[in-house]
Amino acid sequence: MALADQFDGFLIDLDGVVWIGREPVPGAAEALRTLLEGGKEIVFVTNNSVRQPGEYAEQLRESGIEATDDRVITAGAATARLAAERVGAGGTAYVIGAPGFKETVAATGLALLDGDAARSAGAVVVSGHREFDYAELLTATFALRAGASLFGTSRDPTLPMPGGAWPGTGATLAAVETASGKTAEIGGKPERHLFEQARGLIADAGRVAMVGDRLASDIEGGRRAGLATILVLSGASSRAEAEAADPLPDHTIVDLAGLLS
Ligand SMILES: [Mg+2]
Repeated sequence: MALADQFDGFLIDLDGVVWIGREPVPGAAEALRTLLEGGKEIVFVTNNSVRQPGEYAEQLRESGIEATDDRVITAGAATARLAAERVGAGGTAYVIGAPGFKETVAATGLALLDGDAARSAGAVVVSGHREFDYAELLTATFALRAGASLFGTSRDPTLPMPGGAWPGTGATLAAVETASGKTAEIGGKPERHLFEQARGLIADAGRVAMVGDRLASDIEGGRRAGLATILVLSGASSRAEAEAADPLPDHTIVDLAGLLS
């Protein structure tokens, strides 16, 4: 019996599982197509918040995987919603993140501030991006010391990329937390917000597994959400790290194709 036969649905991470940067993980698309053709429910869950959920869905469709826009949940969307709930209607935010993430936060109704005005923002919302600089850190620090609430999409230290890991949101967030003395509330994995949204989409499926490449976010988050956990070794975690994990993932497979064997 294939491992996939034990489950009706899957929450599937993207980076390090389906692709690494722009490069597809070999066999992943074929495995996902087989699962979908077999009637399995799939929701894609990513801590990557550089782009909007629909853009990741488009990238999946380009790989031949049937994924509607609402079947992708990003930590960016979960965190933006969390910040908007906490700050309330008419609230303001200073966002450190890529343009797509700023759009995601603005779409919740929070008014985005910039420059000196941002020092009085009600929330600082952080997601790692390649143009992060000292001026952003300075503005965030002033806003937070003046009373803003701090939110982050994840604490992932790195992002798997071709040629080696790049600094992730956790690295950027650590700078903001260190300078401000505040601790962020996290919207992405392993916290519950993203899992609750994803799980809600497959309410009919009794047996659901979280499949991801990172122990601290995918496996720990899945476990906390009450899901079975499946670690893939195609991304952030080595086999040695998998075997040393406490608690262990329920299953460890080399890549997504391992679900079918
Ligand atoms: Mg990943």
